[in-house]
Amino acid sequence: MAWGRLRKKKEMPGGLWSKCSACGTMVYNKELEANLLVCPECSFHHTVPARRRIEMTADPGSFVEHFTDLQPRDRLHFVDQEPYSEKLKRAQQKTGNTEACLAGTCTLEGIPLALAVLDFSFMGGSMGEVVGEKVARTVELALEENLPVLLVSASGGARMHEGAISLMQMAKTCATLHAYREAGGFSISLMTNPTTGGVTASFASVCDILVGEPGALIGFAGPRVIQNTIRQDLPEGFQRAEFLLEKGQIDRIVERKALREELARILRYAPMVRALQDA
Ligand SMILES: [Zn+2]
Repeated sequence: MAWGRLRKKKEMPGGLWSKCSACGTMVYNKELEANLLVCPECSFHHTVPARRRIEMTADPGSFVEHFTDLQPRDRLHFVDQEPYSEKLKRAQQKTGNTEACLAGTCTLEGIPLALAVLDFSFMGGSMGEVVGEKVARTVELALEENLPVLLVSASGGARMHEGAISLMQMAKTCATLHAYREAGGFSISLMTNPTTGGVTASFASVCDILVGEPGALIGFAGPRVIQNTIRQDLPEGFQRAEFLLEKGQIDRIVERKALREELARILRYAPMVRALQDA
């Protein structure tokens, strides 16, 4: 999985200034922050930490976090350059979160919804058992409370440190979404840069409406892996949101500054969309 490389490249470093990884411009952090982490020079939509994403999305003060008791475990005692348990501890200290997913309920322009947001700053937003469980429980909560659900992805894919258990999360989240859908639920997937691997290949791609942020890398294997495997040049813009919209893989692209308004509009359309899909 490619999250290690992506993380280094895409994460904005601390301090007063950051270098935009897309255009190379030095951007004043306060300006970047005021611009919702979109580069003022090239409009690249940088990856947003989960907490910040919730602030950007939910009505102020409306988010209620759920499932905070779920703690990751190093079941396989996995060691690569260092023990997985150490990596987890470091990621928890760095982000202040227990895992790479924050989940709960909120309102958006007054509309109640359940949401789960992946945090790329926590081990590349990779999906292990806790991330998968939080996503599945968010969907179950939405089902119980008759809410629409919003799943926001930024992920390098399945978390290899958890082996087959991480892969199982793909089936689990999809099965939960299917049951929710059958019961009349309405889900939106927001795919942000980067959404890859087992997350793209599971819950992020099977919601009712798939929204991408501009320029987001969305794919299964990364472009370099594919290029090296097939030994052919890839088409221009391959695996970017715009390319996927053109091919019909996602439904729309929404700029971050318009996102709240657009998500609210989609949520208001939900009963109509459901009726059309069922017709
Ligand atoms: Zn830029």
